[in-house]
Amino acid sequence: MAKIAFIGLGNMGGPMAANLAKAQHHVVAFDLSEAALNTAVEKGAHKASSAAEAVKGAEIVVTMLPAGKHVREVYEKDVLPNVAKGTLLIDCSTIDVESARHVAALAEKAGMEMVDAPVSGGVGGATAGTLTFMVGGSDVAFGKAKPVLEKMGKNIVLAGTSGGGQAAKICNNMILGISMIAVSEAFMLAKRLGLDAQKLFDVASTASGQCWSLTNYCPVPGPVPASPANRDYQAGFTAAMMLKDLMLAQQAANAAGASTPLGAEAAQLFSLFVNSGNGARDFSGIIKMLDGK
Ligand code: NAD
Repeated sequence: MAKIAFIGLGNMGGPMAANLAKAQHHVVAFDLSEAALNTAVEKGAHKASSAAEAVKGAEIVVTMLPAGKHVREVYEKDVLPNVAKGTLLIDCSTIDVESARHVAALAEKAGMEMVDAPVSGGVGGATAGTLTFMVGGSDVAFGKAKPVLEKMGKNIVLAGTSGGGQAAKICNNMILGISMIAVSEAFMLAKRLGLDAQKLFDVASTASGQCWSLTNYCPVPGPVPASPANRDYQAGFTAAMMLKDLMLAQQAANAAGASTPLGAEAAQLFSLFVNSGNGARDFSGIIKMLDGK
């Protein structure tokens, strides 16, 4: 089994590192938070006193950090100067495409293979080991990363070359953010027109309005019992996370010259929702704001 350094043991990284340890890998872990590090050790990881120490002698390095600036800093200061040539680097954080490509280029220059491998599936998927990984990198690097990712997820997709995983993730989540607003608006219009929510669901879920936000994550209570609407919009996928991904999509669209007017509008609406104190609520709770509440 491989010697794996794992940096970033938060809500997602903690359970992911635990699954690698459970699969008998030798996991050497580091996080700036002592509490997160101790929990990882309880779940089978070995403690390192710094990121630089964690990566020394590692065959594979996995990072799960908040944003692009953290990833750039950790790779530039701790990872790249301390890993041996040929080490496989896997960044699972959701970050901007530009940072992902920048770090991968530095890694390649230093003789390392690197993939960006952001995930979907949330904390539940990270704990159960059922995450979806969207991977950007070479075929060779993907082939090496896949068996490791399979210990943390069940759907591993090669999306493209470097940055391709991040691109797939933000494009998907832009669809999700826009479609959740569209579905919410339709339910609010139906309410004003005196149309029963269940009736709208029955029609739209089998007609051309069908989409995941409606049929799997319905923002009104009732039609989909497992959706957060049935538990007062307890997350789930927080509005703050959705806003982060929509902002990343806008950043990428501006840099690439892509026109995304509805993506921009969705980012504005989620920004309003988050800034009114709803960042920790499920993103489908935006229906309350659209209802004027
Ligand atoms: P989190 O804030 O719970 O964890 C991040 C961890 O990184 C923290 O424990 C923090 O202490 C650590 N950290 C920050 N800088 C560090 C450094 N320099 N060295 C070592 N450790 C450092 O965040 P999370 O929810 O685990 O999310 C991690 C990533 O996964 C984010 O990019 C997020 O967008 C993405 N993501 C999260 C979810 C989710 O549902 N939480 C779902 C999909 C993707």
